[in-house]
Amino acid sequence: MEKNIPYKIYLEESELPKQWYNVRADMKNKPAPILNPATLKPVTKDDLKPVFCDDLIDQELDDTTPYFDIPQEIQDFYKMYRPSPLIRAYFLEKALNTPAKIYYKFEGNNTSGSHKLNSAIAQAYYAKKQGLKGVTTETGAGQWGTALSMACSFFDLDCKVYMVKVSYEQKPFRREVMRTYGASVTPSPSETTEIGRKILQEFPGTTGSLGCAISEAVEDAVSHEGYRYVLGSVLSQVLLHQSVIGLEAKTAMDKYGIKPDIIIGCAGGGSNLGGLISPFMGEKLRGEADYRFIAVEPASCPSLTRGKFAYDFCDTGKVCPLQKMYTLGSGFIPSANHAGGLRYHGMSAILSQLYDDHLMEAVSVEQTEVFRAAELFARVEGTLPAPESSHAIKAAIDEALKCKETGEEKTILFGLTGTGYFDMMAYQKYNDGVMSDYIPTDEEIAKSVAKLPQING
Ligand SMILES: *Cc1c(COP(=O)(O)O)cnc(C)c1O
Repeated sequence: MEKNIPYKIYLEESELPKQWYNVRADMKNKPAPILNPATLKPVTKDDLKPVFCDDLIDQELDDTTPYFDIPQEIQDFYKMYRPSPLIRAYFLEKALNTPAKIYYKFEGNNTSGSHKLNSAIAQAYYAKKQGLKGVTTETGAGQWGTALSMACSFFDLDCKVYMVKVSYEQKPFRREVMRTYGASVTPSPSETTEIGRKILQEFPGTTGSLGCAISEAVEDAVSHEGYRYVLGSVLSQVLLHQSVIGLEAKTAMDKYGIKPDIIIGCAGGGSNLGGLISPFMGEKLRGEADYRFIAVEPASCPSLTRGKFAYDFCDTGKVCPLQKMYTLGSGFIPSANHAGGLRYHGMSAILSQLYDDHLMEAVSVEQTEVFRAAELFARVEGTLPAPESSHAIKAAIDEALKCKETGEEKTILFGLTGTGYFDMMAYQKYNDGVMSDYIPTDEEIAKSVAKLPQING
């Protein structure tokens, strides 16, 4: 181990971020305006008010203010589990026999087990501040719902979670964590909403999808007084809150004079990656420094690497605003054997724009190689990673192995977004040797993309 670099770099309380950073302020090409699904015109604050919390709408629509103060209550909550450690992966480096220096920012150090709590607590805070009774949301694998239920219980808000039915049935542990924190959890599609009933009629026996659960949660919020809908990824406000990851990482690295060459994150809707890279990307956009950024997505749901940059609905029910993003089409559902998470059909509008402007790269990886990377990481670094996070591990390993070939001592930073304790069914498939890879064909993607709404933008 290097003498002057600790195994774990922590920050003092006084060094923790007091403001979030909004990378849109430094982007020359801003993300395209989000559109009202009813009128297909750019949304106004009034359009969004029935659905989202007021302060969060302001954050969503603001692409010029670089910094937002983190309210003191949120800073205080963050202190329960932040700063998250920045860890030098000495043992992984040794196992790979690479000259590369690998660091990871570990966000799994809280009961919800992922970075999602960073935004959940912010969204719950603004809902409470507005005097609302509660919030509704969807959850797929359950990480977001778990984080939100923790945040809502802290601020004494009602929390209604629509959980994709297949996860509700197969992941009882997360469901019970949510209920322990006081949330009500409904399997989606359900009979409690109009859109749920419609989907059940059209596709009886369906095990649900994230997009469908979103539609149900939105309908529930707008049809109940004192409720709003909150979302755990994709939106620009979520990337804003998640910038706390990158800000801490940057302060910690600056403290020891470490400059990453390559920054890597897994990308589902883009929130952890966007949050991790934001302050570094800000420097790149302002011409102060240069970095390589790599988004890693599953080969079975390749929105950046094989999707189309176009306006699309954020949800299957077409009730959420449309945004211009890299998308596989809102009807795209990854094949049933996909176990690695990151199943969302689209991508953050901010990251989509940065990628389109060649400021960020993207790669896709197959799930068996992702689990192989997860297994190695667990064995040498100790932490059992979430399958989602393991996409970033896989890409970091690949970059480190390239360094081994060239002899370059590059510094790699990646986001380890969470732990995998609730994903043992997926690990079981891997351990039993029955995990397979599925890559959608060009025809399948073309068919889904052909259904995109026809909008010039
Ligand atoms: C939700 C989740 C992700 C993916 O979401 P992003 O918005 O793309 O960050 C990644 N890792 C973990 C552990 C998650 O829970």
